[in-house]
Amino acid sequence: MACYNHNFSAEDAAKLCELARIANNPQHRPYVCLWVTNGVVCNSHFQASEFPEHLRAAHGVVGQDKTPLVCCWYNCSTEMKKESVMRHVNEKHLEQRHMCPTCHEQFTRAHTMQNHVTKKHSGN
Ligand SMILES: [Zn+2]
Ligand SMILES: [Zn+2]
Ligand SMILES: [Zn+2]
Repeated sequence: MACYNHNFSAEDAAKLCELARIANNPQHRPYVCLWVTNGVVCNSHFQASEFPEHLRAAHGVVGQDKTPLVCCWYNCSTEMKKESVMRHVNEKHLEQRHMCPTCHEQFTRAHTMQNHVTKKHSGN
C-alpha cells in the first residue's frame, strides 16, 4: 500500500506548487539567515551577494578586524575573528551554490558545474 497522507489538503498542494515555483525561479532568494538574536531566528531570505550587507544592517556585525566573535548562527557557536565571519558563514552555513546558467541545476563546486555544462549543454 502506498504511503498516503490523508491530511494533505488542497492548501498544502498549493503551497508545494508555490515552493516549486520559487525553486525554479533563478531570481529567487535561495538563502535563509538563521542568525539568532535574543533567541529569535532571523529567517530572512537573501541572495549570497546580499549577505554581508544583511549581516551588517540586521545583526550589527560591522568591520573586518580581529575582534573575537561567536557565530550566532542556529546551532553554531564557533568562535572566530570578526574578519573570518563572512567566509565562515559562506562555507559552513550557506554552502554557496553554483548554478548552471542553462538549466539552473545547482552545484556545490564551480568546477562540478563547469563539468555539467560541458557534458550537458555544449556541442550540438
Ligand atoms: Zn539575518
Ligand atoms: Zn557558524
Ligand atoms: Zn545545466
